Amino acid sequence: MRNPRLAIDTRCAHAGSDVEGTANRPFQVPIAQSSLFRLGTSAEAEEIFSGVSQGFAYTRFGNPTVDRFAECIADLEGGSDALVTSSGNAAMLCAVTAALANRSGPLVTHPGIYGGSFELLRLLTETYGLAVNTVNPRDPARWHEALQNAGAVLIETPSNPQMRLIDIAETVRHARRTKAPVIVDNTVATPFNQRPFEWEADWVIHSTSKYLNGHSDLIGGAVVKRLPLTDHDRLVHKNLGGTVNAIDAWLGMRGLRTFALRMRQHNLNGEAIAAWLAGRPEVQVVHYPGLGSDGQRGIKERQMRHPGSLLSFELKGGEQAAIRFIDRLRLIVHAVSLGGMESLATRPAGSSHRGMPEEARRAASISGGLIRLSVGIESLDDLLEDLSSALCASSE
Ligand SMILES: *Cc1c(COP(=O)(O)O)cnc(C)c1O
Repeated sequence: MRNPRLAIDTRCAHAGSDVEGTANRPFQVPIAQSSLFRLGTSAEAEEIFSGVSQGFAYTRFGNPTVDRFAECIADLEGGSDALVTSSGNAAMLCAVTAALANRSGPLVTHPGIYGGSFELLRLLTETYGLAVNTVNPRDPARWHEALQNAGAVLIETPSNPQMRLIDIAETVRHARRTKAPVIVDNTVATPFNQRPFEWEADWVIHSTSKYLNGHSDLIGGAVVKRLPLTDHDRLVHKNLGGTVNAIDAWLGMRGLRTFALRMRQHNLNGEAIAAWLAGRPEVQVVHYPGLGSDGQRGIKERQMRHPGSLLSFELKGGEQAAIRFIDRLRLIVHAVSLGGMESLATRPAGSSHRGMPEEARRAASISGGLIRLSVGIESLDDLLEDLSSALCASSE
């Protein structure tokens, strides 16, 4: 329901429902689980293929359920259009390929992007010679120079799992010198907590497998554009082929209906647990945008409405204590992924970021003892009890 006058809670509650509202139509969008659509007469087919009419021909080109899911995500981010994909990685490949069209210069990014994104970029470099320039934004002179010579820019803020923040407005300002499009991976923040288009970013990408769906039962992605999609953008999406099926798009829309409600609880639990961990004697350091640690309070205040529910921390006992901690958790699940209703814990160095060479992991400050916690929406007391007993066991 695309009506910017309505609050995000309202738009979420009606996500994907029948906008026309005529009688005898299903309120929920039907699942169009079909690879093909009748073309009708040759004249009607001609209208569809020439783009004169908005009909459907084949699900890789477009599907009513899938397109509705894309509209919902474009609405939440405040973008003009969106395309949905079969995974977050497919969304990144699509956005990078579209953003680099007719551009010279490398893709500029930073250490500490999600492990799967890192692996994808490395694969593209090794196979097709994609030029990637990885620069640490904590060295502002080099970062700004890289931005000013970029073909396109990819940032992830907060970054997963180090929770480092990058100033979106400043990144855009430097990249504008050569009109390099800026892509922001907004998976961790979500549009409830941060809207990169407010800072004039050009593209937003998502793994919808995470908070947007929130039910840990599908893999999907989205590419959102601030300006309307061009024919070339659509051509990239269609031909890369990362099509999502109608059932997963439908499930994603069902997830969106509780998205705002879930995010409120995620934010409350995330803030409470980050503060609690920071006060524990076993804990060396907590990385969380809401703690103002790492000297990043200014960026958090400027661009994030709320700090979210993903955090990472290290124990004084290092890697062995981290392993004992994880093995002692009872309620919090030892699993990869994030953003579901259930709380999850992992050691990124041994799981999601395993594919990174040791050197890149060090550059991204992902130590063997780093624990990532995706705080769910359970009762805070139950979560604290589980964390407390695991922390006690970790130092035994
Ligand atoms: C999970 C994730 C991805 C990749 O998404 P998939 O759906 O697993 O392909 C990309 N970026 C971030 C920040 C993620 O957390």
